[in-house]
Amino acid sequence: MMVTDTAAPRPALRWQTAEVLDVIGETARVKTLLLKLPDFTKYLPGQHVDVRLTADDGYQAQRSYSIASAPEDKHVALTVERIEDGEVSPYFTDEVRAGDKFEMRGPIGRYFVWTVKLEGPLFLIGGGSGIVPLMAMLRHRAAHASNTPARLLYSSRTQSDIIYRDELDRLVSRNDGLAVTHTLTREKPAGWIGHSGRIDVAMLAETGFTVDQRPKIFICGPTGFVEAAANALLAFGHDRALIKTERFGPTGR
Ligand SMILES: Cc1cc2nc3c(=O)[nH]c(=O)nc-3n(C[C@H](O)[C@H](O)[C@H](O)COP(=O)(O)OP(=O)(O)OC[C@H]3O[C@@H](n4cnc5c(N)ncnc54)[C@H](O)[C@@H]3O)c2cc1C
Repeated sequence: MMVTDTAAPRPALRWQTAEVLDVIGETARVKTLLLKLPDFTKYLPGQHVDVRLTADDGYQAQRSYSIASAPEDKHVALTVERIEDGEVSPYFTDEVRAGDKFEMRGPIGRYFVWTVKLEGPLFLIGGGSGIVPLMAMLRHRAAHASNTPARLLYSSRTQSDIIYRDELDRLVSRNDGLAVTHTLTREKPAGWIGHSGRIDVAMLAETGFTVDQRPKIFICGPTGFVEAAANALLAFGHDRALIKTERFGPTGR
């Protein structure tokens, strides 16, 4: 049943078993899992899920992961970055295989969401695996052949850490109003034509929209990254109500 009245009470999210259909290597530290679910409600670009792993002795660990796929895609996809010494992410990046199963519930979150129905320009700012929910938005935009002006400013450590690089290039080549700017924080390879260094006020001013254009702004990445970008945009005069943020980890980069 579709629940259309957002004021109506919603049933508690139920855990269900996700089966891994395929594991795709994105970078040395990042994998995408394509999943099959018995009963997954339609989701919106930007939403996330909870996953729960249970060890043989009954110990459980639970984490959140953004949905990487667009609602229009055939399968639900999660993209996980390996955190050194992490408890859960190394399982997904190093061990999980097609046919494996784990518990999942969702979709979760109504705040960090963008759909093509929203008007006005879209400014996406991502750091590392913070690209994941932003990619769901861009995939959804492309699936609807939307011409909404969109700009992505994406910060990665090195060139080989850029997630979805080929797909981002393909989306830009559609010439439908999307511009992507990369910045690298830990290397400046020969021939690199993107930006270098952490996202700063000048980079945001150069790549974003003006305050008058009233862009919808979505920022996702490590906590320090998100706070720095949001504070800079507020200092420019962007409306706080138009800036939405999602924080992935407790640490800076
Ligand atoms: C709403 C939401 C959506 C998320 N979506 C994604 C996603 O799409 N892809 C993804 O890879 N992750 C995502 N995360 C982060 C994810 O939930 C986990 O925190 C991450 O996978 C680390 O879990 P772990 O068990 O491997 O590490 P833990 O065992 O929890 O932590 C190990 C160490 O790493 C540090 N740490 C934990 N998380 C991070 C981080 N993200 N960055 C840097 N250091 C960290 C901890 O402080 C600790 O020192 C999301 C988080 C939230 C809240």
